[in-house]
Amino acid sequence: MRTHTALHILCGVIWRDYGVSVTGGGMKPLSARMDFELESMSTDFADEVQKRINREVEAARPIEIGSLPREEAFAIPDLIRTKINLLPPHIVKIRTVDIVGLDLQADGGTHVANTSEVGTIRVVGHESKGRINKRLRIEVDP
Ligand SMILES: [Zn+2]
Repeated sequence: MRTHTALHILCGVIWRDYGVSVTGGGMKPLSARMDFELESMSTDFADEVQKRINREVEAARPIEIGSLPREEAFAIPDLIRTKINLLPPHIVKIRTVDIVGLDLQADGGTHVANTSEVGTIRVVGHESKGRINKRLRIEVDP
């Protein structure tokens, strides 16, 4: 749950501060990777991202689970990031995860109740996965 929530914080910050979408991701307990639609990546950028995501941990933002009617959910452009349009048509209510003040997404996963519970997030690596596809690796404390 902490690692999954850390990924939300990461994609929320990258979206809010750089306007960049996620192209993929993966997770194991305590470590995760996320790929972004970025042309360039550097150690400086990774360091800056680490600072920014830990600011969100320190901000102790509440995380709220909600739901939206499908039509309303589709009307929020940011939710498209999460490939909500792949949902089967019979699903009329969309479950949402709101990191209050940072990021609202459609999501079915489990999360901690406050960003402070994630603890320090470390950006432990970055690599190129293609011309407009760059990966960040993160870890959280045991
Ligand atoms: Zn989630």
